[in-house]
Amino acid sequence: MADLICIGEALIDFVAMEPCTDVGASGGFLRAPGGAPANVAVAAARLGCSSAFLGKVGEDPFGRFLARTIAAAGVNIDGMVFAPRHRTGLAFVSLGPSGERDFCFFRNPSADMTFTPAELNLPLIDSCKAIHFGSITLIDPAPRRATLAAISHARSAGKLVSYDPNLRPPLWNSLADARKRIFQGMRLADLVKVSMEELNFLFNSDLAVNCADQTELQGRAQLLLKKFPGIKLLTVTFGPDGSAWFSRNGSSGRINGFSVEAVDTTGAGDGFIGAVITGLLAAGIDSGTLAGAADQLVTAIVTRANAVGAIATTTKGAIPAMPDNAAVDQFLKGQ
Ligand code: ADP
Repeated sequence: MADLICIGEALIDFVAMEPCTDVGASGGFLRAPGGAPANVAVAAARLGCSSAFLGKVGEDPFGRFLARTIAAAGVNIDGMVFAPRHRTGLAFVSLGPSGERDFCFFRNPSADMTFTPAELNLPLIDSCKAIHFGSITLIDPAPRRATLAAISHARSAGKLVSYDPNLRPPLWNSLADARKRIFQGMRLADLVKVSMEELNFLFNSDLAVNCADQTELQGRAQLLLKKFPGIKLLTVTFGPDGSAWFSRNGSSGRINGFSVEAVDTTGAGDGFIGAVITGLLAAGIDSGTLAGAADQLVTAIVTRANAVGAIATTTKGAIPAMPDNAAVDQFLKGQ
């Protein structure tokens, strides 16, 4: 039993311990559990929503470490599958002196790329109220089939479907392919979270819109809602500048970010969407009522999600940084 199912990849980020522009030049790496859907499951669990992670890791020390870490955070792992012959996906990341990132992925193929529809825990999906997915498992054929089968199973039972494309360009064969598959996900979702960069990418336009340009932002959000009539609530995040929401019913809101000393922004977006889903489920909102959710309710939920995202940047790593309700309440009281 879980109210929220997060389906997708769980992997290990090895973060370079020294600044370098070439990830191969780093002498040491710090192990950090990751994978956006796993982070979202943890964020929701910390905020009191019963969540489960569905995905495949290797039957190896790193896969077991991920399962232990996710379970210790209170997430149901009954739907996790362990691959006997494929390894847990690894991503080595370094940060250059001016903040530029260099990535090297070990997924040739990794266990998550071999996840198949036959390995889905359908009873767990039947038990949920909402399901969340991303686009990394839409890249390769087997996990794409598994993800789409899970989403279609959930949709046909009227579950709330949440989607955060989480664009990672180096993982795709081409940006055209990324756009096509990300659009495929958009068609299935009730609730969508994109970053400002992703919104610009989806429109493939020379003009990159800045979150300060309210008119252009509003225009692009409305175009996205028009292109995908199934989306009932669209959220767009702007890092330290906060976020905005756009409802199918024509309402929208803009919520400033909270000022914090950010040390690692990994997982901020995952904390944000985990908090939005948790807030909607706590308010009894489902796929049928999302478009009609009151403006004040959506504003309160997105404000709290901004707080969760901000708090998530103040500690290193994604999973260790996700706050519980007491920490969020205390943070908001101090504002
Ligand atoms: P993603 O991680 O998906 O790119 P963002 O970086 O936009 O998403 O972060 C999601 C939310 O987390 C933002 O809307 C904001 O509320 C909060 N947030 C992110 N970075 C910061 C920051 N440096 N300071 C304060 N809040 C932040």
